[in-house]
Amino acid sequence: MIQALRGMKDLLSPSSEKYIYFVENCSKIARNYGFEYIETPILEETALFKRSVGESSDIVGKEMYQFTDKGGNDVCMRPEGTAGVVRAFIQQKYDKAKVQKKFFYYGPMFRYERPQKGRLREFHQFGVESFNQSNIKEDASIILMLKEMLDFFGIGYRLELNSLGCSECMPAYREKLVEFLKGEDGICEDCKRRRDTNPIRVLDCKNQRCQDIYINAPLLIDNLCPTCRGDFAKLKEILDGFEVKYIVNPKLVRGLDYYNKTAFEFVSDDIGAQSAIAGGGRYDKLVEYLDGKPTSGIGFAMGIERLMELIVMPESKRVGYYVGALCDEASEPCFELAIKMRKTQKTALNYDKKSLKAHLKNADKQNVRYCICIGEDELAKDKIWIKDLQDKKERLISRDELLG
Ligand SMILES: [Zn+2]
Ligand SMILES: [Zn+2]
Repeated sequence: MIQALRGMKDLLSPSSEKYIYFVENCSKIARNYGFEYIETPILEETALFKRSVGESSDIVGKEMYQFTDKGGNDVCMRPEGTAGVVRAFIQQKYDKAKVQKKFFYYGPMFRYERPQKGRLREFHQFGVESFNQSNIKEDASIILMLKEMLDFFGIGYRLELNSLGCSECMPAYREKLVEFLKGEDGICEDCKRRRDTNPIRVLDCKNQRCQDIYINAPLLIDNLCPTCRGDFAKLKEILDGFEVKYIVNPKLVRGLDYYNKTAFEFVSDDIGAQSAIAGGGRYDKLVEYLDGKPTSGIGFAMGIERLMELIVMPESKRVGYYVGALCDEASEPCFELAIKMRKTQKTALNYDKKSLKAHLKNADKQNVRYCICIGEDELAKDKIWIKDLQDKKERLISRDELLG
């Protein structure tokens, strides 16, 4: 028997219904904020992710579904959504035209990692990217939008914020940090390696000994240039104005050089150990990294599987009709009736003749509002038997009455 690949899962009802419920409502909110839907290919040139996500990251270094296609191209199944959207933005020459663009996307992403609870090799993300909008109000508005999405589903969270500075203040800070790290031999091997390659990343090391040492490390938040400091203050002020609760986490970092200024994460305590359910921030250098003209950018992504664990679906109401025949002769009229009704109503149809009791049971299972049955009596009278499964009333009606 052929089974789905390890770490890959079929999505069936009720999970599939929840997935649709999630993406539809997020899409609606994103549209209210002026975002439009974009769909980029699942397969991209490997170089796209090497250059954007970075070769030193685990995602690109270890977890890519990478292969050579029949034309000899080095290709990869997307491990995340931002790179493809940025590529599309540049390919449309929106960077040269300096247009403001806001996109939302959702769909499957692929990472070849060890499958474990809540972590699949094929998983789904919903994300947004906004280009050419460097006003700090855009940062605030994106955080407000994401908050609105999570609130809609009743998901609890803690919002963490940080500023990663800019090309003015970040390099000087990095030097300060490296200077500090040189004097600390007690840090772990990973951190020693990061000290030389990507020093900012040491700050989110999971090793407690390292964290004890970093209590005394210089923080970027104390070393921001006046512009970054002003923008960060403004961002907090806007969020305060909307009564959005947040904590400033100066150790919330992102590893790559193109990230700057606002970084944020929505963290939930409801799925195992504290974990990020959504994260995002500014990446004003990313478009240039991918050979585009300088273009500011900001976005976020959230993992849909994780969020689905936290979503309770609203109780579904009885909707539509069920049609069933009580005798062989009624089978054809039932079929015709159902096809007509389907133009305007959800209509479940049972092809087989069954007892009234069996049909009622099926109708109930399908959670429809009305059960319609046609048997010998109904055929003789040219009527239709209908039962409202909500108020339990039953009666005989004509076809015209039913079809309006
Ligand atoms: Zn700065
Ligand atoms: Zn460490």
